[in-house]
This record gives sequence, structure tokens and C-alpha cells, in this order.
Amino acid sequence: MMQQYLRIKSDYPDTLVFYRMGDFYEMFYEDAEKGAELLGITLTSRNKSSGNPVSMAGVPHHSVNQYIRKLIDLSVPVAICEQIGDPAQSKGPVERKVVRVITPGTLTDDNFLDPKVENTLLAIKKYPECWALATLEVSSGRFSAKQIPASESPYSDVARLQPAEILLDESDEVPNHLENSPVSQVPGWHFVFETALELLKKQFKVADLAAFECNAHPHATAVAGALLQYALDVYGTELPHVHSLKIEKPDQFVQIDANSWRNLEIEQSLTGDSSCSLLSLFDHCSTAMGTRQLRRWFRNPIRCHIEIQRRHQAVEHLLQNNRSLSTDQILRKIGDIERIVSRIATATARPADLVRIKESLESIPALIGAVDASEDSQAANLCRQLDDLPEMTCLIAAAIRDEPANSLREGGVIKAGYDSHLDEMRKLRDDSGQALSEMEIRERERTGIRNLRIQYNRVHGYYIEASRLATDKIPDEYVRRQTMKNSERYTTAELKEFESQILSARERSVAREKILYDELIEKLKPNVSALQSTAAAIAQIDVLCNFARMADTLKLQKPELVDNPGIRIIEGRHPLVESMLAKPFVPNDTELNPKRRLLLITGPNMGGKSTYMRQTAVIALLAYTGSYVPATEAVIGPIDRIFTRIGASDDLSSGSSTFMIEMTEMATILHGATTQSLVIVDEVGRGTSTFDGLALAWACAQNLLTDVQALCMFSTHYFEITVLADKLPEAENVHLEAIHHEGEIVFLYEVKHGATSESYGIHVARLAGLPSKVIANASEKLIELTRASNTSEADKFARGLHQVSLFDSASEKRSAADEKLEQVDPDNLSPRQALELVYRLKQLSQSR
Ligand code: ATP
Repeated sequence: MMQQYLRIKSDYPDTLVFYRMGDFYEMFYEDAEKGAELLGITLTSRNKSSGNPVSMAGVPHHSVNQYIRKLIDLSVPVAICEQIGDPAQSKGPVERKVVRVITPGTLTDDNFLDPKVENTLLAIKKYPECWALATLEVSSGRFSAKQIPASESPYSDVARLQPAEILLDESDEVPNHLENSPVSQVPGWHFVFETALELLKKQFKVADLAAFECNAHPHATAVAGALLQYALDVYGTELPHVHSLKIEKPDQFVQIDANSWRNLEIEQSLTGDSSCSLLSLFDHCSTAMGTRQLRRWFRNPIRCHIEIQRRHQAVEHLLQNNRSLSTDQILRKIGDIERIVSRIATATARPADLVRIKESLESIPALIGAVDASEDSQAANLCRQLDDLPEMTCLIAAAIRDEPANSLREGGVIKAGYDSHLDEMRKLRDDSGQALSEMEIRERERTGIRNLRIQYNRVHGYYIEASRLATDKIPDEYVRRQTMKNSERYTTAELKEFESQILSARERSVAREKILYDELIEKLKPNVSALQSTAAAIAQIDVLCNFARMADTLKLQKPELVDNPGIRIIEGRHPLVESMLAKPFVPNDTELNPKRRLLLITGPNMGGKSTYMRQTAVIALLAYTGSYVPATEAVIGPIDRIFTRIGASDDLSSGSSTFMIEMTEMATILHGATTQSLVIVDEVGRGTSTFDGLALAWACAQNLLTDVQALCMFSTHYFEITVLADKLPEAENVHLEAIHHEGEIVFLYEVKHGATSESYGIHVARLAGLPSKVIANASEKLIELTRASNTSEADKFARGLHQVSLFDSASEKRSAADEKLEQVDPDNLSPRQALELVYRLKQLSQSR
């Protein structure tokens, strides 16, 4: 047996092998030591005396899932090695085989999967000219790939997708970004384009891949091939439900980088809580498929206006006549068809799965009726995609009991009347059972032992039990098997005969059920593709209904998508902030267009600047997912990317400081934004000295306006920057209003025209509970500093000139210096300051 084990183990050196022995899965040698430590189970050893002890650790087969779950959470793959031979006919150890390897990214079993979250396997490879990424969700068959420019980071996708497992070329070093992710590596030759083409053709059963645009995206195809090969290897069986590859073009979607994704709190709050996110607020889907679809739509806002407008129209349709409510009632009866289909395709579906899918399909005519799609083309398209597959439901209804056993191990799955052979075997089994009861009565009468009973246990099989007090009445032909405290157990030749009849009838009927079940699954497999499109349509109907209900509960309005660049929002709200407020949210308008590209936002701390900017981004994002938006009116032009630079925390793991992160994020924006990008910058330059910060914030705002020309909202506490609006017509100052009232600050959260210089920092600090002594001290210091700064305007600009000298090119220095000079008010200069200014300018001119 150990030879068999070692042979199997040699094929899975990096995987814990769970080797089936009776009712246990055993691990041996190093696997046992590692498994015992990770799972907290007992480590034993055998063969100690031989000088070659074998370490062993085992888990019971009936609770194996909980141990696998633990290992998968620790990113440790497990190979399940089952007995596949017949013990009765085996000489030596029963034949065993690894029936599947379980890795975090290739799960399909409901026991391991979160119903609300996709379980994605992602492969990444860097080529000289681009990054190539491929994703596969084995539990649904969704398979896609894309190429992105080499200058961009693929790790935004990693952060957004949160893949369960990442596949890399083993010759590539694991990058820092992925150090804490579950990574698997395969040899480089898995990533060869030609090999991938052949594999994909075979998988999709096509002679040519022209329809999949593989030739135009060779690297994406190569990575997709490596990913599919890995899944096939791990699964150890065919994956017929993976029948197409979608090549994604990055410009199909509104791009949102990882920081912005986090900043906008789409899937998690900034504190990492997923129950306080935009997605959790918007997810009241009735099916798990809908919830996962909603997440996909949030992750991939589509830029194509026509497609999004179709979604908006469908939401409008569902809002009429309470259609969304009646549809919702039917959707609630529908199970997770998508995941059940993948289990049918991989022949791992359980009996209850089949009952669930049957019941779900039976709800489809009612669903079509509730959607009532006659007046809406998108709803009609989705309804056309729904197939209730009557033949399949009839087949399941005829074959599977209404409440089948959980597994086929004990039988009780196939309905009576489905198969005459099975019915005969069951009759035999039941008749023998009847005969056994008759035998018990007969033996009682014959022996005169009133409490004589015939019983069964797994170790001894059937036996006759009688009280020890009745020993003298026991007939001679009774053979004693076991002595208990108060009773004796016996067997007889007749009982043994019955036992073998019953057991063989039972075993044969269980085996027959297994054959019938496997045949049934094979008969269902041709429906996989129709079931997948039905599941996809149900998921979309669910999300659209959900959007309709959200429109009602959150008071949302249909946005208008237009071709002219810009964003016009009337009475916009931030849905997440609003949902958490006890008091009413103050709505605000936003107007951004090519003639008003930069909004400089000032206002007190806690005044609502950040909320105002984020709500604009959130409204744009929601509009591009197909949802209605929190505003009384929203007209939104084309948007290619949403960037946000909001706050920053030290990323100790990457060794970057707050300021470094701030600047890296800013660099990403300045390099990546276009005239169709929505850029949100919240107080850039806070992480360094005042003058550096001011100079950088100034330069960034100016660059965004004049060079990048993006639609930009820029909040700042540097009042000095607000003069940009006087110089550049496309910039405009707005501020969040707050007033003093009886010595207290009152935030009005209203966006007003013009700038404000008051930051009310000390008032906010008081609200935050700083000790009154510290507040008093700060107030005095503030007066002192304000006075000082008023009298040293030239000083301030002279120091600003030092910043100017840091520019690389002479022309940049000149224009920046000229700009600074223009801002100096000569009437405010003392003679000493004037002298210093002249001196510095001279220095600067010499450095030209
Ligand atoms: P800081 O400058 O300190 O970062 P801020 O100006 O960005 O502050 P926000 O974080 O946007 O301020 O808002 C602070 C709080 O004010 C929010 O958490 C919310 O409770 C409240 N608030 C913001 N905007 C509104 C609004 N429009 N209506 C009602 N309450 C609001």
C-alpha cells in the first residue's frame, strides 16, 4: 500500500495528498506533519519498531469538507485520492487514483464557495509590449482575456477582481504586489501562443478561432491557454461548460484604477468593511446569480451608451405597473442555476442540485409573464434567452425523488418506477427485511425469550441479542459472537444467509442508483449551453429589477447619457453618506464641461468637500452600470476613466511613505488622464511642507487644466491656488459653506460660487474633543501666525521662488517665476522684503 501511495504522491509533490482508507483520508510522512500542524489534528506514527517510522494524520471522510476549507483558506492545494477499485475483487491494495485537485481558484462545490462572490482564477504575464491577463471562473464557465499597455499596471485588476488564485509563469519572479496572494506557477511553455490555439480549438470544438479574435490578441490568447490548461489539469476532467473566450478591449469599459476603486468605497468601506459599501447598499438582488452579476456590472461599467441606455430603459419598464415587485417574488424561487450547471458539466452535481434546477426551470414561464416584456426591447431580448427546457424538467421529475438523499452513498435518490431493475432490487431488499422481522418473532416463540431481538451494526452485521439471564434458553445452534454487560449476541446459519441476501440486495440497488444517476447526468449535459444562457438572462433580469426597486427606495432618477463631453448634475447626493445620516442630506449641483473643466473646491474641514467630489464620481459610475442615480437630473457625457486621489495611508508593506503614495497616485493621473476622464483630487500636497505642498498642488491643478484637460474637481486648503480661477477661464472656484453661530461652527454643506479661505480647523478640532487648553493655545497661535503671514507676503513668494528654481527647464522656471512675480503686491512690501525679493530674482536670473 505504501508503494502505491508513494507512486501517487510522486505526481503531486507540492500538494497535500488525502489518501482514502476506509472511513478516513490519511496523510503520510511530510504531508502528515504539515497537515497535522495546519489543521490542528493528531500526528501519529506506525512502524516505529522497524526503525523507519511512517508519520500519519487523518481526517474522517464525512467531515473532510471542513478540513479542505481550512486548507484552501490557507492557499494549500489538496489532492483527493479515492479508492476506485472494487475491494471484493482486489488482490493487494484497492486501486486508487487522484480524482481531483482542489485549489482556491478552481472550486465548484457549494460547500466551499461564497454564493455572492465570484471565484476567479487569474493568470498574468508580462510581455515586452504589453501585459496579458486571463480570467476563468470554473464555477460558471466565464472565460475572458485581455491585453493592456505595458505602461499600465495589471495590479488594479488584481485589486478589483480579488482572484482566489493567480497563475504565473514559474520563470517570472513573484512581484511584491502579489506576495500575499495565493499564487500558483506553471512552466513557461504553457504560455505559448500556438499551443494555446490548439487547446482552445479543442476545448471549443471549432476548427478556427477567428470569431474569438485570438490572432489579433496573441498574448491574451497565450495566457488564456495556460489558464485553461491549468484548470483542466487540476480538475482532472473535461470542462464542457467553458465553451467560449471573450477577448476584452480595455476601452470598452470605464477604467477605474485600484486606488479610485478603494476611495469610492465601491466594494468595501475605507476601513475594509464590505457591509458599508456602495455595492452592499445597492445589492438587494433576489438570487445569488443576480448579486454576482451586479458586482460584475459595477466592476465593468460599459462605455457604450446604447447598451447602457437599454439597461436604463429596462429599469424604467420594470418600474411601471409594479413589474419589479411581481418579478422579484418569482426570482426568489430560483436557485443558483449557473453554479449547478457547472456541476452538471463536470459531473459533480448532487441529487438536490437537480431538484433545485428543476424547480427553478418550472418558474420560468411565470417569470416571463411577470417581466411582461412586450413594451421593452431589452427585457424582450432577455426573455427570449430564457428556456424552461421542459424535457429536462420532465426527465428529472421522473428520475429523482422530490426529497432525495444528500449523496448516492446510501441510495434513496432515484424515484420508484424510473427503472424496473432498481425496483426489483429494492423489492428484494425490502422483502428480506420483512423476512427478518418474521424470523425475529419466530425465534422469540421458539426460544421463549421475550426480549430476543435481531439487530444490525456496521462492525458485526446482523445478530441476535438476548439478555444474559436467558442464557439457559439459548438453542445449541446459536453461535456466540459478543458478550455485553447485560446481554449476549449470537448468530445462526439462517441469519447469515439472510444477511448476505439483504446486504447484496442493498448494495446492488445502491450501485444501480449510481449507474442510473451517472447516466442521467450524461443525458442532462447537452442542455448545459441553454442553461448557461438562461442563467445569464435571469441574473440580468434580477439586477435590472433590483435597480428598479433601488430607484424607488433610494429616490433615484434616470440619467441621460449624451455624446457631448461634460457632467451636469442637479441636486446630486452621495447615496452611501446619505444612507448613514440621521439628518437629511443636502443635495448639490455639479457642472463640468470643456468650458468649465476645473472646479477648485475650498471650504472648512468636515464641510463636505470630499463627499461632494465623490458623489459626482459615484453618480457617473452608477449611470454607466445601468442604474438610476441619486440626483433630480443627471446629464453625463462620455467618460473613459475615473481617477480619484483622496487621502492616503502609509503603505508600509511597499515601503512607501504617505507623501510618496500621494505623488505616485498623482503621477498616475497626470500620465493616464484624457479629456474624457473624470479626475478627483482631494487636498494633494498635504503630506509635505507647506511650500512644497502648495507648489506641487498648484502645478498639478494647472497641468490638469491646461495640458491634460480632464474634467477635474480639485479640493484644497491652499487658498493661494484659488487665484488660478482668475487667470484661467476654464477654472472656477466653489466652496462648501459653513457659518459661525454663537461661537460654534455650523456646516451647511451647500456648494456656493467663489472661494473661501477659512478652514475652521480649530473648530473642527474642538468638535473632535481636543482638550480645551490645547484649543485655547492653538487659537492664540493662529492669531500670531496669521499676523505674521500677512506681513510677510513677499517672504512667502520669495520662498515660492525657491520652489520655482527646482524646475528642470529654463522656460518652465521663467514662466513660473513670472507668475509668482505677478502675484506680489508691491504696496505690501517692506524695504527689507523688497531687497530680498530683488536679490532672489537676481539669483534666479543668473541660474538661467
Ligand atoms: P476634510 O477637509 O476634513 O477632509 P471634508 O470637507 O472633505 O472634510 P467630508 O468628509 O466630505 O468633509 O464630510 C464630512 C461629513 O459631513 C460627512 O461624513 C457627512 O456626515 C457630512 N456631510 C458631508 N456632505 C454632506 C451633505 N451634502 N449633506 C449632509 N451631510 C454632509
